[in-house]
Amino acid sequence: MIVKNIIEELIKNQQIALNSGNPPFAALIVYKDKIIASVSNNSRKSGNPLHHAELLAIQSVIQTHGSEVLINSHLYSTNEPCPMCIGACVWSGIPMVTYFLDQKDVFNIRGWGKFMPAHDIALADDSGIVIKGPVMNEDMLKYHEIFWKTDNNSIKKHSIHIK
Ligand SMILES: [Zn+2]
Repeated sequence: MIVKNIIEELIKNQQIALNSGNPPFAALIVYKDKIIASVSNNSRKSGNPLHHAELLAIQSVIQTHGSEVLINSHLYSTNEPCPMCIGACVWSGIPMVTYFLDQKDVFNIRGWGKFMPAHDIALADDSGIVIKGPVMNEDMLKYHEIFWKTDNNSIKKHSIHIK
């Protein structure tokens, strides 16, 4: 699997998220050199704050391929996965995660959403999960600048961030 294809696919899904009013987070899962799930965040459109891209990608693979393939799969995310999503990777047996944007990149744009770093979670458990990132990508960052600076989106918080 060529990383260029993975990046293009993630950016395509960021655009889909943006077009549907969702924050531009995207994730995909590669198994045996093939993309077997490719999705974007759907938390705002669905009203379900658990609809992060990584969770949706994992659930898609379970439905289409069964959970067993996850133990030999690689999850790619546009952004540093939150604790919920790293937790889902650990508990579903995904051994490898690569992300592009650091959580600070999004925090600097919208001013909220700090969470325990993915690398810290990986160090704290004994799953052996390997996490690679951040890998800065200006194109992916551009979508966050568009979304969070448009339509008061940075003020519309959700889940634990509702005040
Ligand atoms: Zn998440």
